[in-house]
Amino acid sequence: MKLYAIFGNPVAHSISPTIHNYAFMHLRFPGCYTKILVQDGSKLKEKFLELQLQGVNITVPHKEWAYKLADEVFGIAKEVEAVNTWYNKDGKIHAYNTDAPGFYESIKEYEFSNILILGAGGTAKAIALYLKEQGYDPQILNRSEKRLAFFKERGFSCYTWDEFSVQKYDLIINTTSAGLKDNSLPAPQDILLPLMKQAKYAVDVIYNKLTPFLALAKDLGLTYKDGTDMLLYQGVLAFEIFTDFAYEKEYIIKLMKKSLQL
Ligand code: NDP
Repeated sequence: MKLYAIFGNPVAHSISPTIHNYAFMHLRFPGCYTKILVQDGSKLKEKFLELQLQGVNITVPHKEWAYKLADEVFGIAKEVEAVNTWYNKDGKIHAYNTDAPGFYESIKEYEFSNILILGAGGTAKAIALYLKEQGYDPQILNRSEKRLAFFKERGFSCYTWDEFSVQKYDLIINTTSAGLKDNSLPAPQDILLPLMKQAKYAVDVIYNKLTPFLALAKDLGLTYKDGTDMLLYQGVLAFEIFTDFAYEKEYIIKLMKKSLQL
């Protein structure tokens, strides 16, 4: 039996065990996935080795620690310097970031070219860099200056609320935590309204919730979605890593969707 887990703090709300265990069960794969509360990020590796885990997902607030403590980092995670998946490959911790490719999979059905990302935190970094790799040139809008430095250094056009003048974007992505635990919009209404009136799509990375941002999109008749598909696809990509790509991806997607009754 191979053991898997999600490390985080808080972690009780995580639905990752549901999707992974459902897939293990249906594939008759000898795996079991659980939740483990980890308070101190510097102890991630110790826990991983002590419990002899085959793979883990790492969530808030430990993704930077997961990057620092890995033996080998792959793909976009190297540039983002944040990791959400570890796999024990012959005793070495191989690390990946499946959030950004998961996000991209979740919006593949949309047709867009101009993109605005609201927020400049860890999720925004991963999504912006990954979209750039795919040939897009997303712009960044954040309430404050500090976190924009990362994006400026890498050639993105970025603005604080004060500097911003409204342009036309097809796709607006909310990566801020506005609306997660409160009822706030990710930017002031006088910025957001004209932006959204011209947009086609609004996507929030917060899952299982119609945030005020998405409620506004709905009122304005935009096509919109929350972060549930992103969560699903990051899980699918992690599952492929956990099982050494032994199963057909489309089938894993089907199973995981079923586990969430999507
Ligand atoms: P960070 O803490 O790294 O960044 C938060 C960003 O949001 C910052 O740019 C911050 O601005 C901005 N912000 C916070 N509160 C507000 C507010 N009230 N109004 C406007 N801007 C605000 O967070 P993460 O990037 O790690 O996570 C962001 C969200 O993504 C979380 O809600 C998380 O749940 C979700 N997520 C979803 C995933 C999924 O699979 N669906 C996967 C990963 C994350 P400032 O710089 O000014 O502080």
